[in-house]
Formats: sequence, structure tokens, C-alpha cells
Amino acid sequence: MLMLAMSACGQNSLYEPMDASMQAFTDESRDLSLGWLASVSQSGDAQVASMADSLQLILQDRLIAKVPSIYAQECTSTNPGSFVSAFVLSQDLNSNIYICPDIERKGEKFMAQVLIHEAIHLAGVNDECTTTELEIAVMQAAGLNPHSNSYVSRCGLSNVATFDHSFDSH
Ligand SMILES: [Zn+2]
Repeated sequence: MLMLAMSACGQNSLYEPMDASMQAFTDESRDLSLGWLASVSQSGDAQVASMADSLQLILQDRLIAKVPSIYAQECTSTNPGSFVSAFVLSQDLNSNIYICPDIERKGEKFMAQVLIHEAIHLAGVNDECTTTELEIAVMQAAGLNPHSNSYVSRCGLSNVATFDHSFDSH
């Protein structure tokens, strides 16, 4: 959910292999989000549909990687009650999508929405409120209730959707 302000130079070489279970979870989550985006591509709203096309290309192409040990602290949120699940490196539109180990217990549906959020950053949107607003729009266009993230209330978006709170306590 974060954009890390770090130099982009050489960061894509930071790759640590996932175990088989995490890799299967990642692949299934990516397939799920690509399916949602494909359905949004054919939706009525031309702007959301066009964004969904771009996000599909990004998610098809991008490496979804385990958080390297030098960034491990980024997975520990400093805000009580909030959960850092994934991040990309800011100022690097070719960044890998790094996923935090705890996300696996949230399940594929949660992860699939997080991937959409991170793909929006990789489409060049840095602002977290705008990113979250677009993420919600994509989920709604796919006919799904989005889960809430820590930016929803901070950005005044609590009333823009019916949120799926089934992930909140896990
Ligand atoms: Zn974010």
C-alpha cells in the first residue's frame, strides 16, 4: 500500500525466491485480479475500462516478489490497526510489486485487490487517496464490494462504496 521513496537504481535485482505455497497464492491472486480487470475492460464506463486495460498489461508483465530482507521493516506498520500488505518503489514505474508475508493469511481475494492498488501506482499515480479512489472504482466496475484500507477513512472515502469488512479481523 506504500510508495517507498528510494532510488530506483538496480532495485529490480532485489529478488528472493518465494516458497511454493506463497508462489501458488501469488499466481492465483494475480489470475483473480486479471479476471476482474478483463470484465471491467468491457464495462460501460470508458475511463475505468481504459484504466483496466492498462492495469492488466502491468500486472501481466510485472514481477510480484517477496519483500527482500533489506525492506522487511516496511511490512511493519507504525499505525495501530493498519496493515501493510504490499508496496512498490516510488519513482520506479518498473518496480517489482513486493508483498509482505502476512498477506497470505488474508486470502486471494484480498491480495487481488491489493495488486490492483499497486498496479495503479505503477501506472504513475503516486497519491494514495487518488490510488485508493481508483482501486474502489475498479472493484465496483467488476461488480465487487472492495475491502477497506487505511487510506479509506483518511481520504474521506468511507461513503463511496459498500465495503467488505470480512477481512478486517483476520
Ligand atoms: Zn499505495
